Amino acid sequence: MADVLAVDLGGTKVMAAVVSDAGEVRGSARQRHGAHGDWSEALDAIKAAAEKALKKAEASWDQIESAGIGVPGPVDHGNGVAFQLPNLGLSDVQVSKDVSELLGTKVIVENDVDAGLMGEIWQGAAKGRRHAVGLFPGTGLGGAVYVDGELVRGKTGITGEIGHLVMNPKGPRCGCGRRGCLEAYASRTAMEKWVRKRHRKGYGTNLEGIEDADSRIRSRAFLRAAEAEDRLALKAIKRVSKYLGYASANLIHMLSPEVIVFGGGIIEAMGDIMMERIRKVAKKRCLPGCYDGVDLVEAKCGDDASVLGVAAATFRAMGHELN
Ligand SMILES: [Zn+2]
Repeated sequence: MADVLAVDLGGTKVMAAVVSDAGEVRGSARQRHGAHGDWSEALDAIKAAAEKALKKAEASWDQIESAGIGVPGPVDHGNGVAFQLPNLGLSDVQVSKDVSELLGTKVIVENDVDAGLMGEIWQGAAKGRRHAVGLFPGTGLGGAVYVDGELVRGKTGITGEIGHLVMNPKGPRCGCGRRGCLEAYASRTAMEKWVRKRHRKGYGTNLEGIEDADSRIRSRAFLRAAEAEDRLALKAIKRVSKYLGYASANLIHMLSPEVIVFGGGIIEAMGDIMMERIRKVAKKRCLPGCYDGVDLVEAKCGDDASVLGVAAATFRAMGHELN
């Protein structure tokens, strides 16, 4: 049995885990950081999280065969460089080289959303599938595409940007500055903007946080309001589900996946009330025969998805066959 160290670097925290080649998370730990614009602070947090994960796994560095890290941005896989890490205020970071020096082992670099889908393919909702798509609507909307047993990398390495598929060129402004992207319809941010606009026009709602323009309306608040039959919250959830259904139909037409995995904050909170509608809209929008046999399912690995996916990519890079 072999172990690797898998790291998931986020905008405000790092998760590290010791993962076996059987897909078991033997120990994991988190470390908060305030590394915005400061790569060396992120490196300190990675080291601290790694040390804690090893301790939890009761493992030592010489048991770790290799390591990998998932980062929140597009990656040049050949050189292990992250082009841009907007959540960390950094660009052109030599991730592979710097983290290798830090940990004293070879380190592969993966995009975190791609890693999340890989985790679901290795140990979760898409286990064993060769054609899969990941859609992760939360603050934004992350996407990943896996075809014929491989993540799609494309020419630039910037692939799976499903959140920026244009649904309507005159639609609402997206976080990227463009208009009408899927993310401008199907993210927590988009839901919040939409309900606030309607509330200003006089729609009544009991959504928590609606009266305070500075507070965030959380996915759980939408769920609680929906459970209390709040009409505006229900409409917002129906709308976001509808757009995820449209996007699913587009993806099914383009890629013919076996499975589309839905995760992220919105789905974690509201998957139970969203998935049926997403499936219904996708089915209705698909050409005859295209929808047959496609599974639209919720992610299963939760917070472990990215570290599991990073571990899978690390084992693959070492030449291990994974089942
Ligand atoms: Zn966009």
